[in-house]
Amino acid sequence: MAASSSSSSIASSGPSGVFSAATKSETLRLAGTECWACSTRMPDICQVVLNHDPQIPVWEQIGLFTFNFKTTHNSIPLCGACHTEFDMPLDPGYVFFPTDIQYFIDFESQDRSRRARIATETRIPMSSLSRQVPTNEEYKQHGIDKKMILPTAVGGRYSRVFLKQFLHNGEIPGIEKQYSSPKEWHGAPIASIRRAFAALGSPRFFLIVDPKIRNMLEELRRLYFSDHDLPPEQASLRVVYRPQAETSQKHQLEVSSNGESGPVKAKGEATGQTGIPESTELCGEYTEWVLGPGFTTNDVVRRYEPVFSSLDSYSPTE
Ligand SMILES: [Zn+2]
Repeated sequence: MAASSSSSSIASSGPSGVFSAATKSETLRLAGTECWACSTRMPDICQVVLNHDPQIPVWEQIGLFTFNFKTTHNSIPLCGACHTEFDMPLDPGYVFFPTDIQYFIDFESQDRSRRARIATETRIPMSSLSRQVPTNEEYKQHGIDKKMILPTAVGGRYSRVFLKQFLHNGEIPGIEKQYSSPKEWHGAPIASIRRAFAALGSPRFFLIVDPKIRNMLEELRRLYFSDHDLPPEQASLRVVYRPQAETSQKHQLEVSSNGESGPVKAKGEATGQTGIPESTELCGEYTEWVLGPGFTTNDVVRRYEPVFSSLDSYSPTE
């Protein structure tokens, strides 16, 4: 939702109401008074990690989120259209993330080695040791050292990706290129990475983004959510599912080794004695029939006898 003016943007409530007037003003000072994504005037001040994001505890428990969500570490000016597409949970149309993903992969790899060494020396579980994640200042300094940005930059460089042609309602083909050059952002890099990981599940992201970049993001996700750092809830749920999957696979292997293949067939199925003429057996498509034209009265009685007998004293309501 775009505000009607910069001053009203600062005073606006709604999704950006989590920010104080001072934080909103500071965001406009750092990021500019136009939409950070498309340069439309009079943007709203938006959250990168939403305050109702249900994944916040997961990221906090493994030390990825360590910043204050109500500060400029989590704020970005976006116009109404970009804000809507950025916040679209199932099919985002806009996303941004650090340009130098390899820096985050290397940082995490080194931090894992550090924690593993301490765990060995102290016998403290690795999951109990605090993880270190690049801050906005560290990512910015990395860019300065690599001469990718000037010392006066407000933050590190970020890739800006339009996953839909929503600018000007898609009436100006190619306009996205103008707003896709890397740009500096002042906030916490991990906040944008949260959004990038969410976008990894989108076929649009899969089709549009360079596979090398996509693979690096997937590698970073694998490093961040490793076995060493399972939050309690995920550890508990994994015990439920992983052994079961192994048992299932083992059972299938045993069946195959006994010379059988596929699921066990129901009585009569192997010989085609289903009571239904072959012409009414539908393969590869759905049918709305419950009782096909081939059913006899005896077939129906046999089919529903267990149901009728269990419902003798039961009158279903509509
Ligand atoms: Zn915009």
